[in-house]
Amino acid sequence: MMIVMKESATTDQVEAVVRQVEHVGARAHVSKGELHTVIGAIGDREHVANLELDGMPGVDHVVPITRPYKLASLQFKREEYSVFDIGGRKVGGNNFMMIAGPCTIESRDQMLTAAAAVHEAGAQLLRGGAYKPRTSPYSFQGLGEGGLRLLAEAREETGMPVVTELMDVRDLEPILEVADVIQVGARNMQNYTLLTEIGRAGRPVILKRGLSAQLEELLMAAEYVLKEGNEEVILCERGIRTFESGYRFTLDLMAIPVLKQHTHLPVIVDPSHAAGRRDLVLPMSMAAAAAGADGVIVEVHPDPEHAICDGPQQLRTTEFEHYLRQVEAAASLAGKEVAAKV
Ligand code: PEP
Ligand code: MN
Repeated sequence: MMIVMKESATTDQVEAVVRQVEHVGARAHVSKGELHTVIGAIGDREHVANLELDGMPGVDHVVPITRPYKLASLQFKREEYSVFDIGGRKVGGNNFMMIAGPCTIESRDQMLTAAAAVHEAGAQLLRGGAYKPRTSPYSFQGLGEGGLRLLAEAREETGMPVVTELMDVRDLEPILEVADVIQVGARNMQNYTLLTEIGRAGRPVILKRGLSAQLEELLMAAEYVLKEGNEEVILCERGIRTFESGYRFTLDLMAIPVLKQHTHLPVIVDPSHAAGRRDLVLPMSMAAAAAGADGVIVEVHPDPEHAICDGPQQLRTTEFEHYLRQVEAAASLAGKEVAAKV
């Protein structure tokens, strides 16, 4: 339930409503808008429904939120999409965010070359995995803290904010020292203890859709992060498992407009992991951009033939600028702009 206070409501009146909400064991989430303060009452549905707040001083009106996710719902933000600032780069609204970089951090040379190329072409955020969720336990698992140091160096050299995956809460501290955005991989989308810790860490998050997750499950996962007070969650469609075997996953582009009907959170697309093949990355990125995605996260490598991980799907650094320009043109069809190079 969402309690919209009057423009003239006093702090005491807001506090009185909060007390009333908390009295039935629910949580009160206060958000101060330009004109109105809105209080989200989150908790047991029945207890909250029995609260009679309409008549309390300072209350303008009460809106029931019918979805199981509350803080993630578009209703909760009064039909306004969220825009976040990540190191001076905006995501959401009319901004199209280009996130690019290698699948995994392999070496200083590889990381710095990739970073310089994507920066030069005009990407806003740099990706690079130091902890890798590999299907086989015998595959390369990432450079760990050594990789994070290289990512920090790439950030220093280019000035780009960086995103990297956190797989295990035990690695939170070193990740927090480097990451401007924390990525939760598809395989961890429903790792609720991890989501809760990330929520408490208060750093922007890219939350990837699980391989077989429904959109409502993705939104409930986001709710775990939001519930801890971390409002900066970016949802990422990265392909789901279907019966089709002609490509790695099926990129669910319908997720973009459907998520946008239900949530205020930005929605980006990862065409690289969905396709598993370089030739599909550009058409799928353009389609995602034209469908209204708030950005893409794409893998780029200086020498994909010798990449340790995901070589066949990584764009070559030499083709990245052309790729970006094409995606930019598609994004403009949906009224979004890639920010000018910083
Ligand atoms: C990744 O982005 O590095 C990754 C492993 O993606 P996903 O979790 O979507 O498979
Ligand atoms: Mn990868």
